Amino acid sequence: MLADLHAHTWFSDGTLPPQALLERAAARGLTHLAITDHDTTAAFESIDPAWIAPGLQLLPGVEISTLWERQEVHIVGLGIDCDDLTLQTLLQAQQHLRRERAAAMDMSLQKAGICGLMDYLATLPCTAVGRNHVAQFLLDRGIARSKEHAFKNFLGDKGKYAASARWCSIEDAVNAIRAAGGIAILAHPNRYRISNPALRRLVSEFAAVGGEGLEVSYSNLDADRLDHLASLCLGNGLWASTGSDFHSPGNHWMDLGKFRLLPARCADRAIWLHSGWPRCAGDVKQVSLSDA
Ligand code: AMP
Ligand code: MN
Ligand code: MN
Ligand code: MN
Repeated sequence: MLADLHAHTWFSDGTLPPQALLERAAARGLTHLAITDHDTTAAFESIDPAWIAPGLQLLPGVEISTLWERQEVHIVGLGIDCDDLTLQTLLQAQQHLRRERAAAMDMSLQKAGICGLMDYLATLPCTAVGRNHVAQFLLDRGIARSKEHAFKNFLGDKGKYAASARWCSIEDAVNAIRAAGGIAILAHPNRYRISNPALRRLVSEFAAVGGEGLEVSYSNLDADRLDHLASLCLGNGLWASTGSDFHSPGNHWMDLGKFRLLPARCADRAIWLHSGWPRCAGDVKQVSLSDA
């Protein structure tokens, strides 16, 4: 059992098309893959079942951007019905916010004499445009030295060309995921720039509005942090999820399946034991876990 329940395609800010992502997932030995593009489920409209290798199960998913106390917080939805109207209405609104934000970034770039962002974005296959695309544009133009540099200096909170978006609330995202029959998971809890008390508050508020899972293991997480997240998960009665947040083969630290196994104490709270899970991924009950 190797379940990577957080990965992106080029329908949001990943670089691979779904077929190549599915091939990579099989080659890397995954048993389960969830495609969780930012604010879009467009990948699932394009997938030919013949692309899914025997032994690999694909879960429909999404990663929704929300605002919580002015902090951008990501909620992953797993096992969703992509045709659900409530969910799609929310995702359309989020995609609209993304286009508006890109236009705002284009305005400030133009004021600095940097033209062509919107033309560049129009050449991309994405349904949900994001800051990663803008970072790539700045890189191609020689304005940023790296993606990190682009985020730090230009697109991050206090960046020169940053623009904000009024994402939906955590409650809106959780409600839409649940309306679509899915399980809501709080993504990469350790990546938010908030204090430990604020993180504890975030997790308990997420659980209070119907959130059911926490990403306990993901890329670049050391053993101490993994242990801390396991406590946070179990302490709030949540299910434990795992996912790489894969975007591109170029970033080998975040490759598919590249994360620590769940700690043994999470064994009976692993997300694949959730009663809603078989609906999206077949009847999977076997799980081998060990200490990371
Ligand atoms: P967005 O959803 O458009 O606001 O963009 C958020 C995405 O940008 C994340 O999902 C990452 O893929 C990427 N990202 C955020 N911060 C960084 C960073 N410091 N370096 C590289 N990529 C980043
Ligand atoms: Mn991303
Ligand atoms: Mn995220
Ligand atoms: Mn992600």
